[in-house]
Amino acid sequence: MFKDSIIYKTPSEIEIMREAALIVSRTLGKVAQEIKAGITPLYLDQMAEEYILSQKAKPGFKGQYGCPSTLLISVNEQVVHGLPTNKPFEEGDIVSVDCGSYFEGFYGDHAYTFEIGDVKPEVKKLLQVTKECLYLGIEQTRVGNRMGDIGFAIQQHAEKHGYGVVKDLIGHGLGRSLHEKPEVPNYGLRGHGKKIQNGLVIAIEPMINLGTDKVITLKDNWTVSTADNKPSAHFEHNVAVVNGKAEILSTFEYIEEALSKK
Ligand code: MG
Ligand code: MG
Repeated sequence: MFKDSIIYKTPSEIEIMREAALIVSRTLGKVAQEIKAGITPLYLDQMAEEYILSQKAKPGFKGQYGCPSTLLISVNEQVVHGLPTNKPFEEGDIVSVDCGSYFEGFYGDHAYTFEIGDVKPEVKKLLQVTKECLYLGIEQTRVGNRMGDIGFAIQQHAEKHGYGVVKDLIGHGLGRSLHEKPEVPNYGLRGHGKKIQNGLVIAIEPMINLGTDKVITLKDNWTVSTADNKPSAHFEHNVAVVNGKAEILSTFEYIEEALSKK
């Protein structure tokens, strides 16, 4: 019964979760420094694991549901849950890197989609709009709103640009488990769903496709791909509701700083 209800976090738990999130943020910053054409997903995965262990934390995904890796790396038409391979990235690819941490009993979990060299303008636009969707969803995460307001904001913005909003995979509550209640879909109805309360901690993670919203799972039983093979973008933050408002526990600052030096 308890598993089905939302576990609200205390201020001190939120502080631990902030550190768990920042360990992921710094890991993704290191990924940003290294990622380019010719680098392999497996190289990044090993680097990420070493860094997380050096922070007195553990990889958050490895071992969950049988996940073999620290990072989930999804290239181009892959939406999420791509297992790291030794196939080097190529110029023009887009690469979603999703990373989890486990620190002092709590999970961090967020993701960023990187561009490898020059990316087609239409794909660049998809990344930009997906990131905007994430922040629009975060803006709605406040006391006085309901869960449906988050998905509504994300869906409206994505569909305004003609993109497909993935429905089969969604964001989630986060805490002592990687996936907790509530479900955080990237679609929804304004004013519907549970009331948002202080102490809520969620992972908001729009997965937005250039074409159809339909997805398929590949034969490895992990990688989720778009049904029409068109590119997909994914950005994720960890958000707590504190004093009635959204506080982003994770940050893309380390990533942006690394990318600005490239
Ligand atoms: Mg994630
Ligand atoms: Mg997540």
